[in-house]
Amino acid sequence: MGAIISRITVAVFASLVVIDTIGAATLTVVTTTEDLASLTREVGGDRVNVEALARGYQDPHFVEPKPSFILRLQRANLLIVVGRDLELGWLPPLVQQSRNARIQPGAQGYLDASLSARILEIPTGQITRAMGDVHPLGNPHYWLEPGNGRRMAQAIAKKLAELSPVDAAYFSQRYADFDRRLAEAERRWDSMMAPYKGLKIVSYHRSWPNFAERFGMDVMGFVEPRPGIPPSAVHTRDLIQEMRRQNVRIVLVEPYFDLKTPNAIARESGARVLVMPPSVGGVKEATNYLKLFDYNINLLVTAARQIP
Ligand SMILES: [Zn+2]
Repeated sequence: MGAIISRITVAVFASLVVIDTIGAATLTVVTTTEDLASLTREVGGDRVNVEALARGYQDPHFVEPKPSFILRLQRANLLIVVGRDLELGWLPPLVQQSRNARIQPGAQGYLDASLSARILEIPTGQITRAMGDVHPLGNPHYWLEPGNGRRMAQAIAKKLAELSPVDAAYFSQRYADFDRRLAEAERRWDSMMAPYKGLKIVSYHRSWPNFAERFGMDVMGFVEPRPGIPPSAVHTRDLIQEMRRQNVRIVLVEPYFDLKTPNAIARESGARVLVMPPSVGGVKEATNYLKLFDYNINLLVTAARQIP
């Protein structure tokens, strides 16, 4: 009797699953970065196929375009970008060449995640890329703040629901679950970082203003004289002097930069180089958005603990 009931249950269940699968639209989503892909997976669950173009260990300002990117863009229902000109150097021609009307800027299948985020370092006065500065529209590394991650996830859930209204409740439930897990993680990160409020660091690129503000770090200088401009001898000398003066003991380097100058700076100033990934996929442990912060906060706390 029990076996029959369970067999019937299995049959009913299986048919529900089939109906469910038929009812669910599957959206094909292309994101420029792995961070956006991770947030899209969080809220999109099994109703979306998500692929990122850039890998997390690549500099998102300078990604080498591949023919396969165009093929992926051709099939996409939705393209999600970081925006603020982060992808300006490589994405626009690819989107154009895809000839996919759904994902052109301004179309329903184009989402600029920066429109939902809190952006720092917005230049006042004339907007310019003078001297090769790659942050002319404010800091495009805004995803490195959990509050922005939450806002981005919410904007993505809303866009997915717009494109697939039948799944709106599903996306909204997935967002609520992500929001809860993120809040829980934030409490953990806050308590880990609390003893190191005001920790002074230098970073290679201007990747961490949102992260630093959120977790109480003081970014005191940059290995690059300006975002996108390679280090120069004069700037490096001044930076070393300032680091000695302020007793800065940590130099953060994104995984895609050469370590030669940072190592020399660290040697001269008594600091230590930490290779800290700004993106999901930047190191193998950072497999999703939450794990990226887990990895980075562990790395920082471990190093800060060892500062005499
Ligand atoms: Zn940048």
